[in-house]
Amino acid sequence: MIYRTDYHIHSTYSDGRSGPEEYIAPAIEAGLSEIGFSEHLNLFSDQDGSVMAPEDMPVYLKNIETIRKSTTLIKVKTGLEVDFFKGKEKETGEYLENLDLDYVIGSVHYMGEKTVDNGPEFYEGKSIDRLFESYIDTVCAAVASGLFDIIGHCDLIRIYGFKPSGDPEPHYRRLARTMKQHNVAFEVNTNGRNRPLADFYPDRKYLGIFHEENIPVCVNSDAHMPSRVGQYFDEAYELLRYVGFTEMAVFDKRVRRMVPF
Ligand SMILES: [Zn+2]
Ligand SMILES: [Zn+2]
Repeated sequence: MIYRTDYHIHSTYSDGRSGPEEYIAPAIEAGLSEIGFSEHLNLFSDQDGSVMAPEDMPVYLKNIETIRKSTTLIKVKTGLEVDFFKGKEKETGEYLENLDLDYVIGSVHYMGEKTVDNGPEFYEGKSIDRLFESYIDTVCAAVASGLFDIIGHCDLIRIYGFKPSGDPEPHYRRLARTMKQHNVAFEVNTNGRNRPLADFYPDRKYLGIFHEENIPVCVNSDAHMPSRVGQYFDEAYELLRYVGFTEMAVFDKRVRRMVPF
């Protein structure tokens, strides 16, 4: 069996539609070797009620541990998808270091007070060139913070299909080099296919850059419902193989190892 993992799953602890136990059978069905939960955690701002309440953390961790112990056909891992805010690195780190996690996904959803993925209105009247550059700057700061094992949907700013006027290649190169320098993995996030973008993150045109810079990769569904676990994974792995990737990152207790796929 080919080794596959899906580390980016949202259950009812944040904004997913089903409890974590309901994702296990579909994950086995999808041929996955590991499934990992990654509830939204935002310590500083919650505009739309989609994040896990910090007081739910102990029961979340315990619930996933119970599922892990009672599941034999697939490995169950505990993670979080944590919102990154520049200037809040210290507080974020202090919170995370006390948690028993297999990995932490760091994501940039916020630019200033607003989220970039809650409607195209955010983009109205703004320079896409400047937004794109500024978004990648923030993702680079997330990478350099040392807080995260994996960066989530690293070019989420593409979600509504707005494109910078120039060639964004230097931005992807800068991002990949920062990942290299700080030893952070990225994900191919297949959920972009379900959004207005209708394609994966990051832009497949620039995946070769991540391979050239030798950045560890995961394939993740970002599923918010059980039917989307492992969605489009055949295509995502085929794409990675085409680009030249031969192995992927697997995490245990925040230690990474590489596994061939
Ligand atoms: Zn996200
Ligand atoms: Zn997510």
